[in-house]
Amino acid sequence: MSVKNEIDKKIPLLDLKQQYFDLREMLHQSIEEVMSSGSYVMGQKVQLFERAFAEYVGTKYAVALASGTDALVLTLDSLGIGPGDEVITTPFTFFSTSEAISRVGATPVFVDIDPETFNINPSLIEKRITKKTKAIIPVHLFGMPADMDEVGAIADQYELYIIEDACQAIGSAYKDKKIGSMGIAGCFSFFPTKNLGGYGDGGMMVTDDETIANKIRLLRVHGSVLKYHHSLIGYNSRLDELQAAMLTVKLAYIDEWNKQRRKKAEVYTEAFKDLPLKLPGVKSDYYSVYHLYVVGTEHRDELTAFLREHGIATGIYYPVPLHLQKVYHHLCYTTGSLPESEKAAITTMAIPLYPELTEEDQDYVISVIRHFFQSKG
Ligand SMILES: *Cc1c(COP(=O)(O)O)cnc(C)c1O
Repeated sequence: MSVKNEIDKKIPLLDLKQQYFDLREMLHQSIEEVMSSGSYVMGQKVQLFERAFAEYVGTKYAVALASGTDALVLTLDSLGIGPGDEVITTPFTFFSTSEAISRVGATPVFVDIDPETFNINPSLIEKRITKKTKAIIPVHLFGMPADMDEVGAIADQYELYIIEDACQAIGSAYKDKKIGSMGIAGCFSFFPTKNLGGYGDGGMMVTDDETIANKIRLLRVHGSVLKYHHSLIGYNSRLDELQAAMLTVKLAYIDEWNKQRRKKAEVYTEAFKDLPLKLPGVKSDYYSVYHLYVVGTEHRDELTAFLREHGIATGIYYPVPLHLQKVYHHLCYTTGSLPESEKAAITTMAIPLYPELTEEDQDYVISVIRHFFQSKG
């Protein structure tokens, strides 16, 4: 089959509709239950979802919130992190990670990545620790766990909190420990494109620490224990019943979907191993859930255009590392400050990967990519 014969094909980076069609009946039933219950925000469905989620991740508590961003903000707030404090994180992540740090008034301190995993490089953390450092936020980017033993050892030595940004990594594991359960708190997002995606915004904070769980429960409802009695300046960051009900239905499938992602990722990795492409790192004790399948090449923009011409969507995550964002100009990083993140930003791209990607479509993506490199000689 020649590549040219199939130019009418359209392969999205991610197909959000298929999961809905597959689970339609169950989702509609859960919607009906909520709509006819008369309880629409933070009722029984939210409580059930929180319990199921805590059990899934293996933590004592789970507190449902309005978004993954809020999970990060409220966690930082609950730990008393604010103006004058520094929080170490990676510049190669979605803006939300550092935005949360800035939002509570603290300063993000960016540490470069390990190019193999795209995650924070633990060996570079120590020299950025100061008296003001309060926490480290490792991000498990693209579903790949960060090196939690190394990060944990540094955090222990300097008595820093670890807040896991697990927004892209539900179900992934590091040495048999579920992501999200290894720090003082783990933060998850249910934005529709995430591995466990809702039909709107949503988030979750998980922890084993009762004090923090209780504080976040307070913060999410305007700091009130008793309706109209406020002990804290809080937020409005509730999860609604519809999202909780639908996410509870979907949670039962997350392991199967993640397995499908891993299988398809392995197919790509095998098919591309002889090409001059940087492939996602594979580490024996790391169970990655491939939120995205990201490859690296000096010819990124050319390959992107070639795939687009052949009906294949791609994405760039992320084109500008956070230390070079305009909003952080005052932090005085320059081009060259964090070279591995900067290199990743200009050489990497995500190709279609989702549980429902068919074998035929994946074969087509593979053949077009192989064709691109053959034509380059
Ligand atoms: C999606 C995401 C967030 C934010 O989650 P929202 O629910 O969109 O607020 C934070 N960090 C990372 C790494 C993400 O991918």
